[in-house]
Amino acid sequence: MDLNVVRSVQSADLIPKQWYNIVPDLPEPLPPMLKPDGSEAKPSDLEAIFPKSLIQQEFSTERFIDIPDEVRELYAGLGRPTPLLRAYRLERFLGTPAKIYYKYEGVLPTGSHKINTAVAQAYFNKLEGVERLVTETGAGQWGSALALAGSLFGLRVRVYMVRVSYEQKPYRRILMQLYGAEVIPSPSPYTKAGRSILAADPNHPGSLGIAISEAIEDALTNPKTKYSLGSVLNHVLLHQTVIGLEALRQLEAMGEELPDYVIGCVGGGSNFAGIAYPFYYEAIVRGRKRDIKLVAVEPKAIPSMTRGVYTYDYGDTAGLTPLLKMYTVGHRYSPPPIHAGGLRYHGVAPTLAILVKNDVVKPVAYHQTEVFKAAEIFAKTEGVVPAPESAHAVKAVIDIALEAKKRNEKTVILFNMSGHGLLDLGGYQEYLEGRLRDFEPKEIDLSYLPKINQAK
Ligand SMILES: *Cc1c(COP(=O)(O)O)cnc(C)c1O
Repeated sequence: MDLNVVRSVQSADLIPKQWYNIVPDLPEPLPPMLKPDGSEAKPSDLEAIFPKSLIQQEFSTERFIDIPDEVRELYAGLGRPTPLLRAYRLERFLGTPAKIYYKYEGVLPTGSHKINTAVAQAYFNKLEGVERLVTETGAGQWGSALALAGSLFGLRVRVYMVRVSYEQKPYRRILMQLYGAEVIPSPSPYTKAGRSILAADPNHPGSLGIAISEAIEDALTNPKTKYSLGSVLNHVLLHQTVIGLEALRQLEAMGEELPDYVIGCVGGGSNFAGIAYPFYYEAIVRGRKRDIKLVAVEPKAIPSMTRGVYTYDYGDTAGLTPLLKMYTVGHRYSPPPIHAGGLRYHGVAPTLAILVKNDVVKPVAYHQTEVFKAAEIFAKTEGVVPAPESAHAVKAVIDIALEAKKRNEKTVILFNMSGHGLLDLGGYQEYLEGRLRDFEPKEIDLSYLPKINQAK
């Protein structure tokens, strides 16, 4: 077997020198961010919460954007390029003629892809004299990535952590504290947004949307403080394209053509975009394989792409962010408590929404028990324990590989293993003990959304 090939494709010069920005290559123009009154948000409107360089990336229509040397060095120093592995034993277990490749982001220090944008964001903030970063975290993957990035660049970091996770998942909290971040359970008494929720319900379990509101308010009211977001926005997806750009070169080095399928799970869309957008560029924009299939996997309990509406909505629960046009189940949707905390978000990135709307990306949804079953198969054959989020992608991969078996097709499948699940063993325990249950989606009522939608 080709052990040397696997080794040879991890040399540091495979790390790209530029990120890929999909905005100029979308099948239709990206609808602008709007202010709540319906007027277009200007770059200067975001300066209170983001540094200018990241805002420039957010609005950029340049196809390629340079990765600063210092960020590239950190990518290498933290373990990039991540391995591109072939899941031979899973293939054999399934008896499929399909080839299954996965990009394994779980080898990075905080266990997921999120550090790719965290170090870039910390770098640009530092460059502009920012001293403190605030953010939110659900299960804790984003918070731990930003905590580490803050430590690497000498920035103070405060993380508003969804209260249920803060209480039920102490290990990620401890990891953030170990990296030097201040971790606050949200809703908290430190912000107006938090106080108003606590006044109505002192035991409120919190949500990602509430934590975002608190972090933004903190950034708006404190000096030399900026806000940092772990998904959804253009600049975040941009940074994550390092995943797919590496995978392209690694597949090539392994003598493989462009894959038939590229698959990733979707919370806000950053790891999916990270792996899929560079393949969209090569296969569709450059016309090398127009029938490539890009598959985005979400939980049935929060079905933004498969059952949501394409409309302007806020990024957070309190409605402090600009409005983004996306597939959404509504910013007041209260997500059922599935274990894939990173997928409990009401919307998806605007660029991904456009690809879904134009049938370029195919969305699929699964329940968590079938997802954990797939993860168990992966763990037993490949050894890697998938994060519950990534396990959604694994489930889709197994389904597609079994279809290929029925048709006896030598399909090539590439997916992103966005993170490992070694800090998610509580979910696996429930699964093994037969206590895991599925959650049907709640009713989607968008009548409270801003009136702008009727006009646009
Ligand atoms: C946060 C997270 C996700 C979901 O976020 P995206 O922005 O959609 O990528 C997926 N997988 C893992 C391991 C995560 O930590």
